Amino acid sequence: MMIHIGIDDTDSPNGMCTTYLGALLYREISRLAEPLDLPKLIRLNPNIPYKTRGNGAVSMSFNARKEDIPKIKELVLNMVESLSDFSHKNTNPGVAFLEGEIPKELTEFTYKAIREHVGIEEAEHIGEKVGAEIHKFKLGRGIIGALASIGHPLKEFTYELLAYREPEKWGTVRKVDMESVFRMDSLFYPFTHDNIDPFKGSVLITPHGKDPVLVGIRGIDRNRVILAFESVTFNEPVAFYQLYKTNQNTDEHLTFKRIGELKLYDSAIVRGMISKAYWEKGRHVFFELEDGTGRIRVAAFEPTKGFRRYVRKLIKGDEIIAAGGIKEHDGVLTLNLEKFYPLTLAPKIKYQKPKCPKCGGTMKSKGDYLKCKRCGYRMPKKLIPIEVPRDLEKKIYEVPPDARKHLSRPLVLPLGEEKILDVFNL
Ligand code: ATP
Repeated sequence: MMIHIGIDDTDSPNGMCTTYLGALLYREISRLAEPLDLPKLIRLNPNIPYKTRGNGAVSMSFNARKEDIPKIKELVLNMVESLSDFSHKNTNPGVAFLEGEIPKELTEFTYKAIREHVGIEEAEHIGEKVGAEIHKFKLGRGIIGALASIGHPLKEFTYELLAYREPEKWGTVRKVDMESVFRMDSLFYPFTHDNIDPFKGSVLITPHGKDPVLVGIRGIDRNRVILAFESVTFNEPVAFYQLYKTNQNTDEHLTFKRIGELKLYDSAIVRGMISKAYWEKGRHVFFELEDGTGRIRVAAFEPTKGFRRYVRKLIKGDEIIAAGGIKEHDGVLTLNLEKFYPLTLAPKIKYQKPKCPKCGGTMKSKGDYLKCKRCGYRMPKKLIPIEVPRDLEKKIYEVPPDARKHLSRPLVLPLGEEKILDVFNL
């Protein structure tokens, strides 16, 4: 019979990673039962404050003999109990087991958890409704991700190969040959992506924390992701690796919403007119967007680096599509911009002084008057409006790779552009 297992919230910034536990479980359970597919790494709403890093949850499905099911459950619970980082206050593991087909209600819950904030009780309620067995450790918030990852149909997906370190290396500097990563990227991009940041010349496949991940290689072609991994030179042992199927880079967190409907922690795409031109605070760039149902402050924060240059080119009256997450910043509901697309650009007018009507010389402002620098002719100050060409294209502008959410579809991938515009039939 079919059994689905979901786990989440086993890690903390001090160590562990739910994918590591998932990979160990997948290997152990595969000794007892037949895996129905690769394990799933499901990224949920990126705006949730309790996340450690990328708000990822893990699930896997097996065909098992009925009599082995209690053994499988025991194995999962024991492993979660022994490997989770219980010392951290924000680690609240959750496990879910579901037998048989995946009910529609669970899939609906999954999409809600990808796009909005959901509560632990709501997860408990849905778990009960669909007949899932849930196990909470501490607060047990992890049951949200555990259930949501089981419910994901993953019709559209990408891959991530995660390679793990030997435990004695955890917390030390990762020893990966950078040159080999650049070489790998030149051989396998675009079938694997986000290996490097070409603008900064930095490597993106290695995390920086104390977790057990050595590298993560993402891509759209399963075989090439594996070949890419094999082509990288490691100067420390690879403990083992696991290929995951994932909803990363699918943009499925972004659904159309009216500005007036936006709630804290939502992920959304909105369409609106810039009602207040940009201003800066610290190194962050802000502007205001309205759509007839409401107004929202939009932010391109400092880590979005060069992206802010394009945000500064937007002016009052521009109509744009904006995608991002809703967070509170300085007590104000703010859309953290992930991408934007200029729909119509307002004319940008610059006022110029005329040439001297008498001698063609250059005029200088003198209060309400203009005075010719050459012949001294004076006239009332009447400036000439000139339309300045707008320096923005009709294309999607996105944040750089290291500021991008795992769920966000990079423009380098097929349909990276269409996915956003489809919502508006553009
Ligand atoms: P990692 O990526 O290393 O696995 P993480 O970033 O996934 O870490 P977690 O430690 O899993 O972070 O914490 C995220 C917590 O938020 C989990 O308990 C998960 O169940 C919960 N959660 C996920 N999605 C939502 C949501 N939409 N609403 C409320 N809680 C959520």
